Amino acid sequence: MFSPSIQKLIELFSKFPTIGHRSASRFVFYLIETPQEKIEELIKSISVLKEKIKVCPLCFSSFEPEREEKICGFCADESRDKSVVCLVEKEVDLEAIEKTKQYKGLYFILGKKEIMEQRVEILIERIKKNEPKIKEIILALNSTAGGENTSLWLQRKFKILTCNIVQLGRGLPVNGELEYADEETLSAALEGRK
Ligand SMILES: [Zn+2]
Repeated sequence: MFSPSIQKLIELFSKFPTIGHRSASRFVFYLIETPQEKIEELIKSISVLKEKIKVCPLCFSSFEPEREEKICGFCADESRDKSVVCLVEKEVDLEAIEKTKQYKGLYFILGKKEIMEQRVEILIERIKKNEPKIKEIILALNSTAGGENTSLWLQRKFKILTCNIVQLGRGLPVNGELEYADEETLSAALEGRK
């Protein structure tokens, strides 16, 4: 049994995505060997994160305002196509799609299950009001069972809308997570969407 301080930190790290008890323990022992100034730097970076990072009220992606910007760079960018919105589960998926340089529309982060429903309602209301006028919704979800279920659920939700609903699943590896798909595969999936 580890000491209470070690145990406490292992518990905290174990809550991180994809981090199990073993990795969490490795982090803690790594930190024990890390010089104090590096620890201070880490603590400072974590504590300013919540202060500096804002969540975009339109697409729910996080961004760091340089001045007093209220919305993120994607939503504010006049050169992007405001008639198409790409729905992703999380921000790393947005990054993966953005890297392909194939997509120039808007994004929308669905987030975890608990918040997804509420966010989708907000999006539907906005599309109904034609703000902006969305013609196409791209469902860019993982081609895993969980992703497929979400896609089906979203398609049912969007039935009341007149816009075109397309799925990005084509060409993505079966049981693949979008964030791990290579750029070429993602580019092909974006081009071949139906
Ligand atoms: Zn935004």
